[in-house]
Amino acid sequence: MNPQEKHLLDTFLSLVKIDSESFDEKTIQQFLAARLQELGCKVYVDNAGKKYNTNAKGNVMGFFPGTAKSLPVVLSAHMDTVTPGKQVKPQVTKTRVTSDGTTILGADDKAGLAIILEVLRTLKEQNHLYPPVEVVFTLTEENGMQGAKNLDYKKLKGREGLILDNEEVGKLLVQGPAVNTIEVWVKGLAAHAGVCPEKGISALEVAAYALAQMKLGRVDKETVANFGIVQGGRVTNVVMNELYLKGEARSLNNAKLTKQTAHMKACFEKAVKHFTKKIDGKIRKPEVKFVSVQRYPAVHVSKGHPMVKAVLAAGKKQGLSIRAAASGGGCDANILSGFGFTLPNLGVGCRNCHTTSESLELDEFFKAFQITLSAVLSYRK
Ligand SMILES: [Zn+2]
Repeated sequence: MNPQEKHLLDTFLSLVKIDSESFDEKTIQQFLAARLQELGCKVYVDNAGKKYNTNAKGNVMGFFPGTAKSLPVVLSAHMDTVTPGKQVKPQVTKTRVTSDGTTILGADDKAGLAIILEVLRTLKEQNHLYPPVEVVFTLTEENGMQGAKNLDYKKLKGREGLILDNEEVGKLLVQGPAVNTIEVWVKGLAAHAGVCPEKGISALEVAAYALAQMKLGRVDKETVANFGIVQGGRVTNVVMNELYLKGEARSLNNAKLTKQTAHMKACFEKAVKHFTKKIDGKIRKPEVKFVSVQRYPAVHVSKGHPMVKAVLAAGKKQGLSIRAAASGGGCDANILSGFGFTLPNLGVGCRNCHTTSESLELDEFFKAFQITLSAVLSYRK
């Protein structure tokens, strides 16, 4: 371990010792704001924390002056951790860091925070030309990306850079799905199932009819859809009059997600028509309430983007062949992407995130640092 790696590791260890479970982020927010200031940043803490239930004031932004003429490059990581993340006792071996097994380690995402701090320190100490850096440390990523959703975006001039919030350094995430959460309430008509079932409309049959014609599961290469929750019915001798379904649709392509969601809605509308009938001389029809809410937009960074190329080239120098890949889930990158940012997500070397067997692989961690540093040094716009 060289002195720089030792410093990076020490920074990481000091960060994991600060409790920062989601919504309890005040201490780490203040710590990081102070660190950025010491490193020569102009620091701004926004008011995101006032918009939901966290004890922190807001997201931390650091404006680090450059020595070369360029738009700023953006580096981002999140400040919170999942649970159990209190009183982490890091155990360091030659190759990795783990917790003592009773908590998570918090390498997700403190390894990312440490790398960014160490990159700034290195830039300051070396005699290189480099662009200005805009640091974005977000709150509450692990709980609905609420920090990123409430970030004061107008403070930022840069639109390109890196997010450091992924496991393997060999995998650079350039795509991530947009997700819609879908809820459907189907109302039929109750009737005695033994005496006069023809006077009822089964909400279950309406839903079944809709689902039978719906594209679900793997819809295409980029799109999937699923219903995972169904609730309805109380007794066997009544035609079911109410049914609730909850599901989601995901796509790497925002337009395809819109199309799939409209298709799912149309299937229910068709079912309403199909089950509309005359009962005792009156037209009766089932009712469907279909509500779709976007959880987050898609990430789509072109594989030829200069930032992707810079990371791949820097990886090569470290003896790594980094592959541009798609993620299945959502993170800050999705939210920032929705606000017009292009931020591939670089792995920091952690494994088994969100578990008590989480680890940080030191070799990868050090490489992720070198790659981030190279990508920043080569950035000009
Ligand atoms: Zn994370």
